[in-house]
Amino acid sequence: MSSPRQHFLVLTFPLQGHIAPALRLARRLHAAAPDALVTFSTTEVAHRRMFPAKPDDSDEDDGRLEFLPFSDGTEAGYVRSPDPGSFNAYMASFHAAGARSFGQLVDALAARGRPVSRVVYTLMLPWAADVARERGIPSALYWIQPVAVFAIYHHYFHGHAGVVAEHRHDPSFVVELPGLAPQTVADLPSFLTDSTDPSDFFHSIFTTIRDLIETLDKESPKSTVLVNTCQELEVGALAAVGTQAHDVLPVGPVLPPGDDDASIFEQDDDARYMEWLDAKPANSVVYVSFGSLATMAREHLDELLRGLEESGRPYLCVVRKDNKAALLADAETKVDEELKNGVAVEWCDQVRVLSHAAIGCFVTHCGWNSVLESVVAGVPMVCVPRMSDQRTNAQLVVREWRVGVRAKVDDGGVLRAAEVRRCMDEVMGNLEAAAEVRRMAEEWKQVVTKAMGKGGSSDRNLMAFVDGARSAV
Ligand code: UDP
Repeated sequence: MSSPRQHFLVLTFPLQGHIAPALRLARRLHAAAPDALVTFSTTEVAHRRMFPAKPDDSDEDDGRLEFLPFSDGTEAGYVRSPDPGSFNAYMASFHAAGARSFGQLVDALAARGRPVSRVVYTLMLPWAADVARERGIPSALYWIQPVAVFAIYHHYFHGHAGVVAEHRHDPSFVVELPGLAPQTVADLPSFLTDSTDPSDFFHSIFTTIRDLIETLDKESPKSTVLVNTCQELEVGALAAVGTQAHDVLPVGPVLPPGDDDASIFEQDDDARYMEWLDAKPANSVVYVSFGSLATMAREHLDELLRGLEESGRPYLCVVRKDNKAALLADAETKVDEELKNGVAVEWCDQVRVLSHAAIGCFVTHCGWNSVLESVVAGVPMVCVPRMSDQRTNAQLVVREWRVGVRAKVDDGGVLRAAEVRRCMDEVMGNLEAAAEVRRMAEEWKQVVTKAMGKGGSSDRNLMAFVDGARSAV
């Protein structure tokens, strides 16, 4: 009888910012372990959006990479609603139905002769580790935010919740967590300051992260945490987590191989904006995107576009279809008609756009994928963080790596046109400080490229994970 094959099952929450790094990791595992099977799994709803043409037939050609969804117990996933309890109610049923369905998936794979040998799960699925443990399958968390954020959550849930809870309404209060640079309450992940009350819209994210940290503590002798970062970017934060409780392996930035990056969004015709970019001088274009979730109200968008127009620089701005729909419900004007010096798209291939020579700056909400993609491309950033890990990520960009500036918003949270112009000058202008930001961006690009390349730190860590997983089969 032949020995069982290595089989990684990569499981992810159904958001674009989770699906992208998880799928990229699945493809990296597929390439790094040429004999292994890899199964990628997200919810049925997201799966149908990833594969609209043939949702039931999503095997990859060589038979080693398979896409099999699990059920979150709903027909349509979470549907945005102003009902304050809607998201928390969805999450409660997501956890219950997801764990059940995921268990069935693991059992069905075993019954088909493709037993799973290692579960790899992203950060909103603590039950994945329990389902795996119950079946004697080792698991690894794939942390898709920086180690700095993991370290904050780790320490918060290991004895430091009190000080944060006591001062959570004081944004300037300085918190000191073991091994980490002092940081203000305003720079902590928002779920620790805004979502600890059960009445908060996102309270279930706070409790899920708490459950996740507890789940990791259950692993014996210690848990494995793969992180979408590289060790050179986060030396201090890695030391702050330590090696006692967790085996933390930075394996990133994990990027799409070539042009093959699945998305749950329909992309604009890429020829249109890529040709537009081709005609622009090097480093001249401002790219603007606030990720897959954040939406802009009319006033925010108007100020942003006015600032971009007044800066005199060409720009490529993502205004998602769902955001446009919300704006059109408020006002009759269309987004695209107002632009003189720029182009608006509903969704683009961001990795490709950022690597285009014409791009000189990225105005970003600092979602971790966007930050990493910008660092890899050597593009300086203007940071406009809002929630979740984005404020901490912006600190890394501005303070630790010095590859960007932070835009100030007014008391109403609006980024004003004058501030947009100021920030453009600070990273794209002629002053020495701007040249320094660009120089640092180029330097970090080299560091990160080396880490990702063959024999680099992240490559070695991934190979060590694959080899460890192979010997455990
Ligand atoms: N993205 C994209 N095209 C767009 C806008 C965003 O491909 O027009 C991708 C981007 O490359 C990134 C992801 O969407 O991989 C957004 O993830 P991030 O962590 O930056 O933010 P989130 O959407 O989770 O807030």
